[in-house]
Amino acid sequence: MIKEKYLGVEVCCVNQKSVLCEVENIVEKRKPSFIVAINPEKIMKAQKDTDLLNLLNSADIQIPDGIGVVIASRLKGGNIRNRVTGIDLMQNICKKSSEKGYSIFLLGAKIGVAEKASKILMEKYNGIKIVGVRDGYFKNEDEVVEEIKRVKPDILFVAMGSPKQEYWIKKNIDNLSVPLCMGIGGSLDVICGNIKRAPKWMCSLGLEWLYRLIKEPWRFKRMTVLPVFLFKVIRER
Ligand code: UDP
Repeated sequence: MIKEKYLGVEVCCVNQKSVLCEVENIVEKRKPSFIVAINPEKIMKAQKDTDLLNLLNSADIQIPDGIGVVIASRLKGGNIRNRVTGIDLMQNICKKSSEKGYSIFLLGAKIGVAEKASKILMEKYNGIKIVGVRDGYFKNEDEVVEEIKRVKPDILFVAMGSPKQEYWIKKNIDNLSVPLCMGIGGSLDVICGNIKRAPKWMCSLGLEWLYRLIKEPWRFKRMTVLPVFLFKVIRER
């Protein structure tokens, strides 16, 4: 898999289709691997946090989740042309799993959310095997790990926000014996309709950030990282 690097953080040059092929490979080979979604906010955070930088780079697949990464790639003559958003990838993996018979565990979000999301996914993807659900506010980590080990999923989605979910995956991946782990942030809330996504036309114009800004104006400060990120990328040799 070809990777590009922006301010020290690796991002894979992939699209939905190529990641899905890789997912199939990972599940068939059963070598524990994990997917992390990369956006400018995470890259900027990693500038001041070496542990986070190493964590992001230690993932097997870094998907270009934010539009800022796509713009950076264009500016630097790279080959990343489209976003591969975590929520779309997660749902595509669910679809593939229903076709291939891969089993899934949903971990994270508030009590009841993963359960509701699993019902929605079962209605949407006929035959999908969801072998376990668990909220993301547990006290006893060992108990959760044991629960996952007992049901032996092929894929574990962890929705505990970033970078908490990635640290959790990294810490437990060797012990879990799950071929594929992926951090999915607020995706379970989106599936349940607790959070609305931008309309398709806005997503396709790369304006999802504008939608979120209108809906959640307090995110403004977080969004100012995009111009700073691009400025730094341009100056990077
Ligand atoms: N969450 C959790 N455990 C925690 C903290 C957060 O399960 O200890 C869940 C929270 O309920 C929400 C998700 O993690 O469903 C965080 O979503 P957010 O959109 O903040 O994540 P991002 O994609 O921005 O990293």
